[in-house]
Amino acid sequence: MAINLLDLDHEGLVAVCSSFGEKRFRATQLFRWIHQKGIADFSAMSDLAQSFREKLSNLARIAALPVVSQHQSGDGTIKWLFDAGEGNAVEAVFIPEADRGTLCISSQAGCAVGCRFCSTGHQGFNRNLTSGEIVAQLWFAERFLRRHLGKDERIISNVVLMGMGEPLQNYGNLVPALRVMLDDNAYGISRRRLTVSTSGVVPMIDRLSADCPVALAVSLHAPNDLLRDHLVPLNRKYPIDELMHACKRYLEFAPRDFITFEYCLLQEVNDSLQHVDELVSLIRRIGIRCKVNLIPFNPFPGSGLMRSSPERIDMFFRALSGAGIVTTIRKTRGDDIDAACGQLAGEVRDRTGAVERMAKQRTVFPIAPISSSTSAKQGTVAR
Ligand code: SAH
Ligand code: SF4
Repeated sequence: MAINLLDLDHEGLVAVCSSFGEKRFRATQLFRWIHQKGIADFSAMSDLAQSFREKLSNLARIAALPVVSQHQSGDGTIKWLFDAGEGNAVEAVFIPEADRGTLCISSQAGCAVGCRFCSTGHQGFNRNLTSGEIVAQLWFAERFLRRHLGKDERIISNVVLMGMGEPLQNYGNLVPALRVMLDDNAYGISRRRLTVSTSGVVPMIDRLSADCPVALAVSLHAPNDLLRDHLVPLNRKYPIDELMHACKRYLEFAPRDFITFEYCLLQEVNDSLQHVDELVSLIRRIGIRCKVNLIPFNPFPGSGLMRSSPERIDMFFRALSGAGIVTTIRKTRGDDIDAACGQLAGEVRDRTGAVERMAKQRTVFPIAPISSSTSAKQGTVAR
C-alpha cells in the first residue's frame, strides 16, 4: 500500500526520498509542501521535478482521517470528529483566543486508563493512533482554518494533547508526531506551546524529558492516593509521590519552569477545603514549581458525578491562591457543542454503527463564517 507521508518526520521523509533516488533538500521541499502549505496533491508541488512527482503519486499519499462531522460553537470553538474506522471516532478542537489559537488533539481512540470522570475512559481502549493520524489533526485543522479565514499565515500557535487518549501510553507514535509539530520546516510550534497532558505514566515522563521535552500537564485530580486510586486508576501503579518526583525530574529538562497540574472539580468528591489543605501540603512537601488549573467537570450521561457549584469552585480557587499557589480556572469553551474531552465521540459511539453511517453521508455541517474581528485577531497570533 502507498506510504502515508503524514507518518514521517523530516528524517523519515529524507530516508524515503533517498530510496526514490532523491536528495535531502528535495525531501525538505516536500516536507514544506505537505506541512507548511497543507498541499496534498503532488502535481501542485511546482518546484519538484515531474518525474519525482509521478513517483510520489504512484508510491505515496497524504491522507488524514476522514471527517465525520464538524461543529462550531457560538464562542468560535470548532470541533471535528474524525472516523478512526471500525465504529471508532476521535476528535480535535480548535479554540481561538485573542493572543493565540489552540488546537486540542487526540492520541488514541478510547483510553485504557478509565478515569471515573472521563467519557473517553468510559468507552475503554480501542486503538492507538498512528503518528500520521496524530499529526493529521493539526495538518487538517491548520489547512481548514487558513482556507476558511482566507489567510496564508500560521493560525494554530499552540497544540495540546488533551483530547482523547493517554498520549504516554502511545509513546512510540507520539514522539515522531511531536517532532513534526516542532519542526521549523513543518509547523514550527515552540516547545513551550506544545503540551502533553498525562494521567501520570511515570517511566514515560522520564523518557519524554530525554527524547522530546515539551510542556507537561499532569492530571492530578486528587491530593491523596486513596481518592486518586479511585478517580484515576493508573495511580495504583504510579502513586502520587512517585508521580510528583517524576514531575520534579522533568522540570530540569522542561521548556517551562513549572508543571501544570489539572484538577477536575467534582461536587463533594474532591472539592472541599480539606482537599485544598492536602494539596497545598503535598506541593510544599515535594517542593515543586507548579500551576494548578481547575477544570469544572463536564458532565456526561451515566457518569454519576456532578460539576462543583460555582461557589465551591470559587472557594477552592481562593483557598489555593491564598496559600500562594498559582491557580487558574479553565474557561469552559464550546459548551454548546460538547467540546470537552471525549464527549462527542462518546455519544456517536454509543449508537452502534453511527460512525460508519455518518461517514458515508459525510455529514459535515456548514460552519458559520468567523467574524472579521476574530479573524483579524487570529491573523496576528504570536508563534
Ligand atoms: N489522558 C490525558 C490527556 C487527555 S484528557 C490526561 O488524562 O491527562 C485531558 C484532560 O481532560 C485531563 O486533565 C482530564 O482529566 C480532563 N477531563 C477528562 N474528562 C473530563 C470531564 N468530563 N470534564 C472535565 N475535564 C475532563
Ligand atoms: Fe484516559 Fe485522560 Fe480520560 Fe483518564 S482523563 S480516561 S487518562 S483520556
